[in-house]
Amino acid sequence: MIHVDYDACDYCGACVGTCPEVVIHLLDAKLIVDNKGCTDCGICTYACPVEALALDKLVPGGAAKQGGRREVVV
Ligand code: SF4
Ligand code: SF4
Repeated sequence: MIHVDYDACDYCGACVGTCPEVVIHLLDAKLIVDNKGCTDCGICTYACPVEALALDKLVPGGAAKQGGRREVVV
């Protein structure tokens, strides 16, 4: 599951096109994530320039940028 820090997000849209599951949408200047379709791959976390995206867990084989660090589970 992806969490969006809406205080940090500036709605730049950089994360939207990075999601292979196409579950991130920018609608009416609001960022919407359909977490039902999120596979916890972590790809979108690398796109965010202000680190507003975070996973609550990493799945095996996944990698994410969390709190400025790159974390990988193998
Ligand atoms: S973690 Fe992966 S599947 Fe989930 S929203 Fe980010 S890019 Fe999409
Ligand atoms: S890349 Fe980050 S700042 Fe830009 S819309 Fe996505 S979550 Fe918000």
